[in-house]
Amino acid sequence: MPVIPIACLSDNYAYLLVCPETKQAAIVDPAEPGPVLRALARETASVAAILCTHHHHDHVGGNQEVALTLGVLRIYGHESDKGRIPSQTHGLRDGDTFEIGKLKVSVLHVPGHTTGAVAYVVTGDGDPAVFTGDTLFVAGCGRLFECQPPAMQESLQKLARLDGRTRVYCGHEYTESNLKFAAHVEPLNHAITEARIHTAALRKNGKPTVPSTIENELCYNPFLRTHSPEIRSSLGIPVNASSEDALGAIRKAKDNYR
Ligand code: ZN
Ligand code: FE
Repeated sequence: MPVIPIACLSDNYAYLLVCPETKQAAIVDPAEPGPVLRALARETASVAAILCTHHHHDHVGGNQEVALTLGVLRIYGHESDKGRIPSQTHGLRDGDTFEIGKLKVSVLHVPGHTTGAVAYVVTGDGDPAVFTGDTLFVAGCGRLFECQPPAMQESLQKLARLDGRTRVYCGHEYTESNLKFAAHVEPLNHAITEARIHTAALRKNGKPTVPSTIENELCYNPFLRTHSPEIRSSLGIPVNASSEDALGAIRKAKDNYR
């Protein structure tokens, strides 16, 4: 399905998702109005909704101006984020569904980075897509600002269980530095080496590294690989430690990695 990444701020991505049949569209995480409105001017699409992954300003900063300029009446976010997401009209829960034209959007509540983080799974035209905000990045995950490791572990596993072909559209272009850390903790994983070569080529040409796929993330993303003996031995995580504890240790190591 047509998804257009829109570079915002220093390294954020907003996305324009278009139903190919009806030309109804949604904007995911309009970080700032300028680039979003300019991208829209190039497309024949009518924006029906704004989809917010979480309340941080670098994701919702453009909500109000985009909604006013385009007359968008539906602004989605988790129900617990009401009051934190500007102009929010709809409060979502895990499992909720709605439509953008003929595309079906399913909501996954994925606390970890924030308590009200959600991911949007879109189906109905070719391979599914998931918009993960700052929960799952290409080769990484978001910082644990409002939750503890077990919540993030459960949320990441929800995403890991999606169809492997699901395309992953995340909130930031952090792939190069994420893969550098992935290689540091799992140097013998050849999938990381391949992904680094691919990523370097894309970035050299100024191209985004999104989308990835769930299948690919399972191969190289250390936060989906808490079972990896190599990661565990690199970071001194006991073999019998729980996946939650391993995730916490990997996250801490990444926080301190330069
Ligand atoms: Zn954030
Ligand atoms: Fe962010």
